[in-house]
Amino acid sequence: MTAGADVLVIGAGIVGAACADELAARGLRVLVVEEGVVGGGATAAGMGHLVAMDDNPAELALTRYSLELWRRFVAEAPQRHEYSPCGTIWVAADDEEMAAARAKRGMLTAAGIACEPLDAAALYACEPRLRPGLAGGLRVGGDAVVYPPKSARILLERACARGARLLAARVRSIDAHGVALEGGERIAAGMVVVANGVAAAALLPELPIRPKKGHVMITDRYPGFVRHQLVELGYVKSAHAASGESVAFNVQPRPTGQLLIGSSRQFDSADRDVDVRLMQRMLARAADYLPGLAQLNALRCWTGLRAASPDGLPLIGPHPARRNVWLASGHEGLGITTALATAQLLASHICGSAAPIPAEAYLPARFAQLDAHA
Ligand SMILES: Cc1cc2nc3c(=O)[nH]c(=O)nc-3n(C[C@H](O)[C@H](O)[C@H](O)COP(=O)(O)OP(=O)(O)OC[C@H]3O[C@@H](n4cnc5c(N)ncnc54)[C@H](O)[C@@H]3O)c2cc1C
Repeated sequence: MTAGADVLVIGAGIVGAACADELAARGLRVLVVEEGVVGGGATAAGMGHLVAMDDNPAELALTRYSLELWRRFVAEAPQRHEYSPCGTIWVAADDEEMAAARAKRGMLTAAGIACEPLDAAALYACEPRLRPGLAGGLRVGGDAVVYPPKSARILLERACARGARLLAARVRSIDAHGVALEGGERIAAGMVVVANGVAAAALLPELPIRPKKGHVMITDRYPGFVRHQLVELGYVKSAHAASGESVAFNVQPRPTGQLLIGSSRQFDSADRDVDVRLMQRMLARAADYLPGLAQLNALRCWTGLRAASPDGLPLIGPHPARRNVWLASGHEGLGITTALATAQLLASHICGSAAPIPAEAYLPARFAQLDAHA
C-alpha cells in the first residue's frame, strides 16, 4: 500500500482530490495521504458557492476558468452532485453600492461573464423576501452551488479509477525524496504536492498562510424561501480586511431546500469553537436583509478555517527553495470554486505542458520569504 509514487499528494480536501484526479489522468502514479475523512476539512465547512470573483484580474481569470471546468465536470454525472445553477445576486443597499454593482458588471462583462443589473423592482421580483428599501443589485446567472465534500469524494473516486491510491495516515514531515508519516514510516515519492489546506504551514513553516475562521449556520428545509445565492455588495469590503473580524450577509438556497447562512471572517483564530457573539452578529446581519429568517428553525452551526495568503491568491506551483515540493495551498474563501483550475495549473507545471491560463500570478515564488528558506 505504501509503495512509492511519482507524486504524493498530502490532503484529500477538494484541492488535493482535484490535483490527484488530474495528475492520474495524465498518467502519473499518484498516492494521496489523508489523515481524516475525505473532504472533511475546510471543504466540509465551506458554503460551496461557485462564484466569479473580480477583486483583481488574476482572481477573475482563475474563477472564470474554474467555473467552466465545474460545468463540464458536473455535466458528466449531474445526478451524482448536489449542484444547483441558482446564480448569485449581489445586493446593493444604497446608491454607493449600486455604483459598486455597475463597476462589477463592467469587470465581469469584460471577462465574458454574463450578468444583468437589477433595479429595485427587478430585485424584489427575483427575491421578494428581501427587506424593503434596497436599491437593486447585480444578477450573475452562471454562478452555482455544490455540496463540496460530495464533489471531493467524486473527484477522488475518479482519481482512484484512474490508478491513484489513498492512504489513511498523517504526514509528519517532507523532504526532497518523499515524506515521513506520523508513525515514522517513510514513503518515497518523486514529487510531493502540499494540498493540506490551512495545515500546510505546520509542515512548511515558511509558508505565508494564516487561518481565517468562518462561521456557517444551516436551517431546516424551506424550499423557495430564496432562489439565488444572496450576497451583500459590502461583502467585498469585509472579505478582504487584512485583520480583525467582520460579518456580511450571505445566504444560500441548498438543493435540499435548506438555507446556509454566512458569513464571518476572523484572523488568527485557529480554534474551531463557535463564537456565540460573532454568530449573533452574523445572524443579525442576515436577518437585517431577510427579516423572515428570524422565524426559521436552525439545525446546526459550525466553523471552518480558510487558508489565507497575504494577497488573497492561492499558491500553485513549485516551491522555489525545496526540491520536488509543489504547492496547491492558500485558497482562502474560494477553494471550492478554484479547485479544478488549480489542478489544471499544477498538472501543467508538473508535466511541462502549456498552462490553460497565465500562471504567473499564482506562483509561490512571488513570496520572497519562500526563497529565503533556501
Ligand atoms: C466558512 C467557510 C466558507 C467557505 N465558503 C466557500 C464558498 O462558498 N466557495 C468557495 O469556493 N470556497 C469557500 N470556502 C473555502 C473553501 O472551503 C476552501 O478554500 C477549500 O475547502 C480548501 O480546500 P483544501 O482541499 O485546500 O483544504 P481542506 O478541505 O482543509 O483539506 C485539507 C485536507 O488535508 C488533510 N490534512 C491536513 N494535514 C494533514 C497531514 N499532515 N497529513 C495528512 N493529511 C492532512 C486534512 O484532514 C484535510 O482533509 C469556505 C471556507 C470556509 C471555512
